[in-house]
Parts: sequence; structure tokens; C-alpha cells
Amino acid sequence: GERNSGNSSMARIKVVVRKRPINKKEMARKEEDIVTIEGGNCSLTVHEPKLKVDLTAYVEKHEFVFDAVLNDVVTNDEVYRITVEPIVPCIFERTKATCFAYGQTGSGKTYTMQPLPIRAVEDMCQILKQPRYDGYLLWLSFFEIYGGKLYDLLNDRKKLCMREDGKQQVCIVGLKEYHVCEVPIVKEYIDKGNAARSTGSTGANEESSRSHAILQIVVKKHKDGKPNLQGKIVGKFSFIDLAGSERGADTTDNDRQTRIEGAEINKSLLALKECIRALDHDQGHIPFRGSKLTEVLRDSFMGDSRTVMIANISPNTGSCEHTLNTLRYADRVK
Ligand code: ADP
Ligand code: MG
Repeated sequence: GERNSGNSSMARIKVVVRKRPINKKEMARKEEDIVTIEGGNCSLTVHEPKLKVDLTAYVEKHEFVFDAVLNDVVTNDEVYRITVEPIVPCIFERTKATCFAYGQTGSGKTYTMQPLPIRAVEDMCQILKQPRYDGYLLWLSFFEIYGGKLYDLLNDRKKLCMREDGKQQVCIVGLKEYHVCEVPIVKEYIDKGNAARSTGSTGANEESSRSHAILQIVVKKHKDGKPNLQGKIVGKFSFIDLAGSERGADTTDNDRQTRIEGAEINKSLLALKECIRALDHDQGHIPFRGSKLTEVLRDSFMGDSRTVMIANISPNTGSCEHTLNTLRYADRVK
């Protein structure tokens, strides 16, 4: 679609694809890497293996163009520099920024997402050293949306509810916010929160793929510069490790709970796409009421906002269908 800025570093919406390396398991199964990256790292091709009616094999090529396509040797630090770093200064100027990791389970969402807030806080702490930011402090919170409900990942999975304050500000009642002023503590919170992510009734770690994990760093201005509750929100950066995109298809599963969760995930990922598209096309009406995820992000879709979507893909033959689904989703977001 038509973008509202030609300058990609300042565009309000940026869509980046990251391909993870093929792994040992996949190689042992004799799977191939079917994703090639071309065009100055802005386009990629999926080589889909197919069979004709007479069973002769052929390859169907699918080409996609994005703001950036990152190959399997790109480091997490480079990912940070391309996606989050350019936006960090904006949140000191009243901008709400959001970075999403979208993709099927096992495509590298958590691997990609986990280091980003750590690096962001590192840079934010540098910015805060400027005298004009005297009295500004950083606050961190980490929660999960699971089955349409909110849980605090840094407070014993306490169930939370959401309220709108009438001034376009989303308030999550009871959500714990922690003052952060150095990098190691951020890593501790992230590890703690990830360990608390939903394990579901089966206890399988797999279950975390059915939840959206939302880590927020909020910049607040405090009259006395003390980490009390009286700060005024200046800007916010949300880092969102989305539920596995394939989970949205769990809507015909035999298990009732799985079906309900699948429907909720499907609804939220579709609503998210619609909201980002509405943002990019400067539509007055943003359909955030479509799901819990978009309701929670409501204030991040209003006013001066920046969005980065990282579409994570697996390169192996067996993931072809999911990879194409992810790329089509990311393509529609533009
Ligand atoms: P997801 O969160 O999407 O389910 P993970 O982030 O857990 O996927 O990644 C699946 C596995 O692949 C993990 O073992 C992770 O360490 C590995 N992995 C993912 N992306 C990369 C990458 N770019 N380079 C190296 N290993 C990766
Ligand atoms: Mg994960």
C-alpha cells in the first residue's frame, strides 16, 4: 500500500522480516532452506516445493518486498539498530512506540524480542543523563494476555483488569510498575516474567505460544525526581512477543479450551492488523475494540505513534505454509 512517509527511518510503520537459521533437527530430517534474500536486503523469495497432478515436482516462487529483510546471520544487536534504536529518542518527546514480534511458534520471536528492551533501556539511560531530562524516570511492567485475560508476569500472575480514563490513556488496574535505572535489573525482570508466562493446564512450555507477552517501558516526569507514584507519563515503548500465529488456526481443535484460545488469538491478530493498517492510512477511526490486545494498545495507536513489526520466519521446507502466511500478514500490514 501507499506509505505515509518516504523516509523509512521516520516512517510511522516499519515492517521487517527476520529469517532464523535452519537447525540441526531440520537438517537431520533432510529439510531444505527455501528462503532466499535479495534486492539489497529488502526482498525475499520463498521457493515452495510442489507436485503436479502427474506427481512431477516443481517449485513455485513467491516474492515479497519489505522495509528490511534480515538474514540468518544478522545479530540481535543489528536487529536492535535497525528496528528499535531509531525510535528510542522519540519516546522522550511524547511518542508511543510499539515493537511486535509476529510468527509461528519456533520462528524466533522470543529470541528476537528478549534483548530489545534491555538495549533500549541502556540507550534511554544515556539520554536521561541530559540535564533537560532532570526528574524523568523509567518504569517497567510486564504482563500477558492469555485467553483474553490479563496477568501480571511480575506479580505472581495476578489477574488484572483494564480501564479507560476518558483521556485516551489506558490504565491497567493493579499492574505493578518497577522503577529501572540500570541494565542488569531489566534482564532480571525479563527472565522472571518469561518464567512466569502461561504454562496452561498441560504444563507444557508450548503453552506460552498461546499468549501475548507485553513488556512496557514508560518514561515519566516526576516533580521531585523521586521514584514515587506521582509521575506524569511522557512516552511509552511496548515490546510485544505475540502468540504463535499458527495458534489462530486452532479453532477446530477437539479440545474446547484450545478452540476458545485459538479463536481469541485469531481475533486479536486480525484486529491488530486492521489497527496498524488504519494507522498507516491515517484513518480517523481505529478499530481497537476488536480484541483485548488492541484495547490494551489503544493509547499506543493514538496521537504520535511509531510501530515496528518484526515478522519472524523459519526457513525449512516443513514450515513453508506458515512462512507464507506470516509474510502475507506482514505484507498486509504495510
Ligand atoms: P518462538 O518464540 O517464535 O517460539 P524462539 O525464539 O523460542 O521461537 O526460537 C526457537 C529456537 O530457535 C530457539 O532455540 C532459539 O534459540 C532459536 N533461534 C531463533 N532465532 C534464532 C537466530 N536468529 N539465530 C540463532 N538461533 C535462533
Ligand atoms: Mg516464544
